Amino acid sequence: MFQDITTLLLDHKAFKDTVDIFVDRYRDMGISVVAGVEARGFMFGPSIALAIGAKFVPLRKPRKLPGEVISESYVLEYGKDCLEMHVGAVQPGERALVIDDLVATGGTLSAAIRLLERAGAHVVECACVVGLREVKGQHGLNGKPLYILVEPR
Ligand code: 5GP
Repeated sequence: MFQDITTLLLDHKAFKDTVDIFVDRYRDMGISVVAGVEARGFMFGPSIALAIGAKFVPLRKPRKLPGEVISESYVLEYGKDCLEMHVGAVQPGERALVIDDLVATGGTLSAAIRLLERAGAHVVECACVVGLREVKGQHGLNGKPLYILVEPR
């Protein structure tokens, strides 16, 4: 069953509360990069970045970014996919938060983490609105912490 977060965006209070929870959590963590996963990470990431004083870096599907990119492939339930990030968007030593709407297997977030680490960033945490199930032992997220707001039964 597809978890549709667009209904959350229709409710101004719920949308604002969601962003505010993330902002309260991350505003004092020294984060300079909020990296959002295409496409639904783009719906939350920029608001959080603006509020905590960080830049927003889009992690996009292949051949969407115009400049030079680095790429990371990952395995999906049915097939493969890939995320790309602009070279130079992140500097070595920057502290990054990865944001997406939902985590299931953690494969997408893991690819995002690998991209940021290849650029020399330190990934402080991954954050999602919805967690479909626990990423076991966090091995799926390269040992990075995961923060989720809701876990549907
Ligand atoms: P994972 O890589 O953790 O298995 O899957 C997470 C990715 O798939 C996220 O980028 C998320 O947007 C997308 N995704 C998978 N299932 C759903 C779903 O039911 N609802 C939404 N909104 N996104 C999903």
